[in-house]
Amino acid sequence: MTLSTRTFVQRRSLLAVVALTIATLSTPAQAQAPMPVVASFSILGDLVRQVGGERVKVDVLVGPGSDAHVFQPTPAQARLVGQAKVVFSNGLGFEGWMSRLLKSAGYKGQQVVVSQGILPVREAGHAHDHGETDPHAWQSVGNARLFAKNIAQGLCRADAAGCNVYDRNAIAYLARLDALDTEIRAAWAPIPAAQRKVITSHDAFGYYARDFGVTFLAPQGVSTESAASAKGVARLVRQIRQEQIKALFVESISDPRLIAQIGRETGVKPSGELFSDSLSAADGAAPTYIDMMRFNTRALTTAVRGE
Ligand SMILES: [Zn+2]
Repeated sequence: MTLSTRTFVQRRSLLAVVALTIATLSTPAQAQAPMPVVASFSILGDLVRQVGGERVKVDVLVGPGSDAHVFQPTPAQARLVGQAKVVFSNGLGFEGWMSRLLKSAGYKGQQVVVSQGILPVREAGHAHDHGETDPHAWQSVGNARLFAKNIAQGLCRADAAGCNVYDRNAIAYLARLDALDTEIRAAWAPIPAAQRKVITSHDAFGYYARDFGVTFLAPQGVSTESAASAKGVARLVRQIRQEQIKALFVESISDPRLIAQIGRETGVKPSGELFSDSLSAADGAAPTYIDMMRFNTRALTTAVRGE
């Protein structure tokens, strides 16, 4: 055995001991009960789980497939909030119901607004009544990085003994987010700027637009609340033709006849759904934040190519 192999073997057995120690420490029977925390919606719930790991038990208020804009907390959820050590919210006016919920739950614990420190984008349209600022900050991977750092800080404040674990988890997750950002930029790189145009009725992609150089056009006059006017549809059809837009995501227009009409008049096939404010269920297409960003990017780049 040469010297270098012996060193290698020794190092390997040292690693095995370390791995065994970590495994022993994290055996559920010996670990302390995980710290109960609450995240306001599913996307944030995933980010908190990534950073908190096994030391936290995350309850999500607005679950997969549900809409945070029209959320009404149940008494059981108010009790969950009352027992939590940390409550994570997006902020930027996304959870209009949060302050009332915290008050009614008599919440006295840590509050972490994860969007703190981001550079806000102004809201493009009026599909949501969020005020001036676009709250969908997680659609920027750079912002998700900041979310993860704010989450680690918040967990450290509530559980100082776990701070090393939270920092380590955050560092590992940040590396994955960096890779995701690079991957999304690479997916868009071959597509000419003039072709990066998407029609969507949901004004949720302002941050994605800014980061990845995509133009999202939210047609006026076609809203979910009022029936689409003939004029509004005509304007949308004109816009799609003039700008040769091939990507049409109209998931919140529930009238299938309208979608069919737009498709007929423009020759553009609707491209289905994007995940904006919520993850999918665990067995769906976007069970985590990283899955969601990948899914949307694949759907968008495929659609703008007219494929
Ligand atoms: Zn929204």
